[in-house]
Amino acid sequence: MKVTVIGTGYVGLVAGACLAETGNDVICADIDVAKIDRLNGGEIPIFEPGLEPLVESNLASSRLRFTTDIPASVKASDIIFIAVGTPPDEDGSADLQHVLSVAKSIGQAMEGEKIVITKSTVPVGTASKVRDAIQAETNHTVHVCSNPEFLKEGAAVDDFMKPDRVVLGVDSDYAGNVLKELYSPFVRTGNAIHIMDIAAAEITKYAANSMLATRISFMNSIAQLCEAAGADVGMVRNGIGSDSRIGSAFLFPGVGYGGSCFPKDVKALIRTMKEMGSDASILEAVEAVNERQKWLLVDRIKARFGENLAGRRFAVWGLAFKPQTDDMREAPSLVTIPALLEAGATVAAHDPVAMEEAERHFGQRISYHKNYYDTLSGADALVIHTEWLPYRRPDFPRLVEALKTPVVFDGRNLYRPEKMETFGFEYYSVGRSAINPHQE
Ligand code: NAD
Repeated sequence: MKVTVIGTGYVGLVAGACLAETGNDVICADIDVAKIDRLNGGEIPIFEPGLEPLVESNLASSRLRFTTDIPASVKASDIIFIAVGTPPDEDGSADLQHVLSVAKSIGQAMEGEKIVITKSTVPVGTASKVRDAIQAETNHTVHVCSNPEFLKEGAAVDDFMKPDRVVLGVDSDYAGNVLKELYSPFVRTGNAIHIMDIAAAEITKYAANSMLATRISFMNSIAQLCEAAGADVGMVRNGIGSDSRIGSAFLFPGVGYGGSCFPKDVKALIRTMKEMGSDASILEAVEAVNERQKWLLVDRIKARFGENLAGRRFAVWGLAFKPQTDDMREAPSLVTIPALLEAGATVAAHDPVAMEEAERHFGQRISYHKNYYDTLSGADALVIHTEWLPYRRPDFPRLVEALKTPVVFDGRNLYRPEKMETFGFEYYSVGRSAINPHQE
């Protein structure tokens, strides 16, 4: 099949490479000339495990091409995905300007019947706006469909190749059958393709992300209760997660959810619900809990060292919003680090892949270290934002020796409190009692 993907970001690039891998002729188009030049030179602009070899081999076999020529890319394919960004507008709603401008370009370039699919996360009702924008420019038949993407950054290629499910909101049997065929190589092990109304598909994406965000904020509320009651939230998590009606995923408390999707999608769904007269109070609470949670480490550090942190130095492990990505959008580290600097502290940071990205935020206001142990020397405490695997089993005696005082603020509950106690750490985690060997 001939497929064009317009918007070559996380979603567009992964979708394009995976669709090419299954034998389709794919054109990835974007308005970002520098990005397309890099891709044509074989350089992958994002960190995503498994993506580079996929792009390389499909470029080499000419099944995958990159271009900035949007009209030509529209003419060349019968199936066109829109995968451009939908960032939050000032009022929290999804900004559809990129989606609608692509729709207009498609309408202007079309020379025959097309299937146009919104893969970007868009509010309910967007498909009809896309259809209107296209049909304002052309009389050719267009089938507008919704195919929200559920991939996770850090596991994007795997998620696309082996999706739990594919959601297709379609307006005709014809479009449904073509898309079912396009997706058939990805669902060979029986995972479902759900064909549904376009509006249901659009809502499904927001409902899924908002449900996951709700679980995280719910657990962060339970964590707060556990601390007040002297209980261990990990035990509660195991206790509820083993109930098959609940399941164990997304029940980890921490310093709040971040990234390019949950914060913006929760905001956008709140906005849509309000606009349509629905009650958004659950999601407003989810958002408020998350905002509070992002300040948890700052509050703990100031409670321990005082409001004025002049002369204090902090080692920070983890800058990305989650492991396996260099994405720092809405990352909790973007709350903690500026607050520490504002209070007069210095910060020595490490992240396995996000330091280049961090430099765009902090410049030379913090120091960056290739080896995470190098952040520790002379630091008053270690602060952990991201659960990267190497942080899980550090050399604890080396930590004790390098830190000025053996204090750890762990935003991801990486260590067992009893173990930290045996090494003599003062240890603060989430939803578990603090360990302070110097306190009676
Ligand atoms: P991104 O910012 O990484 O990429 C968007 C790309 O679109 C950019 O390369 C940009 O240059 C391009 N673009 C913007 N306007 C354009 C235009 N008029 N013509 C051609 N290209 C244009 O965004 P992303 O993370 O890939 O997200 C894309 C959409 O997918 C969003 O709606 C997002 O919510 C959704 N989504 C993202 C993820 C994720 O994990 N990143 C997962 C599922 C869904």
